[in-house]
Amino acid sequence: MGKSVKLGIIICDRYRTCSGGKCLRALRNREGAFERYRGKNVDLVGFATCNGCPGGNIEYVPQEMKNNGAEIVHLATGMLVGYPPCPRISYFCRFMREKYGIEVVVGTHPIPQKYYSTHMHLGSWDSGVWKDLIAPTLTDEKTRLTYD
Ligand code: SF4
Repeated sequence: MGKSVKLGIIICDRYRTCSGGKCLRALRNREGAFERYRGKNVDLVGFATCNGCPGGNIEYVPQEMKNNGAEIVHLATGMLVGYPPCPRISYFCRFMREKYGIEVVVGTHPIPQKYYSTHMHLGSWDSGVWKDLIAPTLTDEKTRLTYD
């Protein structure tokens, strides 16, 4: 293993009381959107909420994360699985890449199976855009069940 990859996580404010258990477990196990770090050291250098719709913190916290050395910002899986999924994810990604020149990854822990089932019935992710957004955290049913 070489030098650590430094990353920050921004969560949906609807889950602001979340202790980050699923994200931290997935990070430790290199699951979901953290699979990309298998075989690498990782440092979590920032954790914040978007501060509620329309996501005011997106404008500021990436700089704070960068100040701590973050090279990558993850938008937490809660943004994908909330009811409704966050309608601003694509804009957040474009904004942070443009404004801060930082890599942005959509997702953290694997999508829990109970959210997966409901959203599949609702057709929430039927478009090509959503299929791309959920791809890193889709994993497989066995893994999703362990995150219920
Ligand atoms: S839906 Fe989007 S903008 Fe609204 S609180 Fe959640 S992440 Fe923030």
